[in-house]
Amino acid sequence: MNPQTNLNHQAEEVFEIYPRLIIPHTLAAGPGPGNTDPRVLEAFATAGVADHMQPDVVRGMKEAKFMLRQVFGTSNVYTYAVCGTGWSALDCAFTPILSGDSVVSFVNGTFSGIDDLNIRMKASSNADLAANPLDPKPANVVTVKVAHGQSVSGDVVEAALAEHKPMWAFMAHWETGSGRINDLQGFNDACAKHDVMGIVDCVSSLGIAKFNIDDYPAVTTWASCPQKGILGLPLTYAPISFNDKVIDLIKQRGCPSYLHNPILDARHWCIDDGKDVETAAYHRTHSSYAVASFHEALRLLLQHGRAQKAADYAFYEKGLRNAVETMGCKVTSNMTSLVVFNLPAEFEGREKELVTGCREKGFAIWPTLSEPTQIRVGILNQLNPAAINDIVGRFADAMIELGVALDKNKIMDELNGYLAAR
Ligand SMILES: *Cc1c(COP(=O)(O)O)cnc(C)c1O
Repeated sequence: MNPQTNLNHQAEEVFEIYPRLIIPHTLAAGPGPGNTDPRVLEAFATAGVADHMQPDVVRGMKEAKFMLRQVFGTSNVYTYAVCGTGWSALDCAFTPILSGDSVVSFVNGTFSGIDDLNIRMKASSNADLAANPLDPKPANVVTVKVAHGQSVSGDVVEAALAEHKPMWAFMAHWETGSGRINDLQGFNDACAKHDVMGIVDCVSSLGIAKFNIDDYPAVTTWASCPQKGILGLPLTYAPISFNDKVIDLIKQRGCPSYLHNPILDARHWCIDDGKDVETAAYHRTHSSYAVASFHEALRLLLQHGRAQKAADYAFYEKGLRNAVETMGCKVTSNMTSLVVFNLPAEFEGREKELVTGCREKGFAIWPTLSEPTQIRVGILNQLNPAAINDIVGRFADAMIELGVALDKNKIMDELNGYLAAR
């Protein structure tokens, strides 16, 4: 058989193959993902192929676990990371909620709304699921809605927990949909007072604000993501931390997941029976590339310093906020990684048009995903004067294109005056 015949033979199989996928660089200036640091990408691309039990891969996971405890500010042994995105860690965080458990969840935007949906799915009976398969409404879950643009306050949490006395309570720390910081201290205190186990979505705050989760002991579970404050987008890990109360509960009652079972998942991170151990137990095939890049992202974060990073976010967010306010926009957020705002009154209703125009030019800002429509501009990993100038300059150009009368030079001068005064 000569090669020609062979080729012809193979050609009998006809496939439609697309050209190699090329994805352009954009300026990721939305709520997430953040711009990946070149060091993280390099770690990803230069790691060798090695299996999930190879000693350096396992060592990398152990070191990542120890670094994560510092990032979280915790001595919780069950601190590790779940393969996947923020929702993967959150799914793992909600897995200990069993069908029929009572829960109060607080919703003030898109993301806490999705968390609430997952909680309702987990707490449902089979009949609840059958009645409304994609949006079940079990009577044992009480959803407390707080208006878009407002924070969940300690008073609201206290009143709801006093009334319903649930087993679990849930809140997002920073609600990225509306850009609002919720009252973590108030949530913790109400959970402590009513003996409720608190679960917090800290996807948007971990690695941006400085806080120690051990200062909030009534919050028994914390879940975050790879792509926002941690800045390890390439296929990595979503940080998670459980205190012993949850782990003891799972030991008693179990939970209906192999993959997102905290006790089993943690074993591959060399956590077994409540303590750090030397050897990993297979849970799934962890990727050497992903471990290396996640490890590097954590090193970067700790090298920057939690306090310094938090201060940098606050400083640059203020520069961006001042600039959009000078352009006539009304800011309603108080997070430090993101500015959420309305256009000047006469341009209201044209937010999506402006965002679409920016995105077509590779300036990847976002609208809100639930009503009301607002604009979201973020500064993840954009903590330097040149990056903030780029964002403000591009946004000013888009406003001018929309027809807003503004003096771009004056706005840039003011921004640079502010940045130089640090
Ligand atoms: C981004 C975000 C999520 C979802 O994270 P993914 O990485 O997209 O899975 C969940 N909660 C909050 C508060 C977020 O900001």
